Amino acid sequence: MARGGIWLTAVLVAWMSGLSPQDQEVGYTDTPYLPGQKWRVHDAKRPAPPVVDPSGGPKGIPADAIPLFQGGDLAAWRTPDGKPARWKLEGDFMEVNGTGSILTRQDLGDGQLHIEWCAPKVPKGASQHRGNSGVFLMSRYEVQILDSYENRSYADGQAAAMYGQYPPLVNACRPPGVWQTYDIVFRAPRFDDKGKLVAPARVTVFHNGLCVHNDRAFIGQTAHRAVAQYHPHAPKAPLMLQDHGNPVRFRNIWFRPM
Ligand code: MG
Repeated sequence: MARGGIWLTAVLVAWMSGLSPQDQEVGYTDTPYLPGQKWRVHDAKRPAPPVVDPSGGPKGIPADAIPLFQGGDLAAWRTPDGKPARWKLEGDFMEVNGTGSILTRQDLGDGQLHIEWCAPKVPKGASQHRGNSGVFLMSRYEVQILDSYENRSYADGQAAAMYGQYPPLVNACRPPGVWQTYDIVFRAPRFDDKGKLVAPARVTVFHNGLCVHNDRAFIGQTAHRAVAQYHPHAPKAPLMLQDHGNPVRFRNIWFRPM
């Protein structure tokens, strides 16, 4: 039968049964089971994923995202000792101002992070002293922020590096003064009840839309001039943004727990 004929038959069957095409059973009940799953291929009973409006949240962020910073206030952030964060606020961005690193009030674990940052428009300093900051997942695992636009530094310390462990696959840095994005998919490390590492932390990172780490494992907690090691911790912990003394700006930060 021609495709038009099949479609017409389906509509007719739906009409005769009194059900709209939306209510008709879809999928199959006689197909083989998928290996390692309780579902058949095209299983008619497999639940549909939840519907999420990708821009249905506040200020157009995904409807299921936790808003961490959308300008206006630093309510979601604190100092390491629990006091209100004091970074400079201006319009839709915040700026590092020497008052120390800031942490989210909320603990976060596995999920997807979106963050936008901008290195100072007038570059100052060289290597690690130019536009240095950092996204510390669980306050421990750093995806480096650095003005790596025509600024040489050691490879595992440049922008988007898993600091001190892996350089990014490419240098996708935009010029200073231009907003840049990181989209990070993070899986927290797993420890057994004796604190032994069972599975390392892993990240997939996109820098300005380019994949720079593809499901790469952290060697351990970020360290300087030392090989990183794991130290057991809770399954969720705050996200930290580093104050490295350079006035780096941040805007539009959200996290989707997964
Ligand atoms: Mg840093």
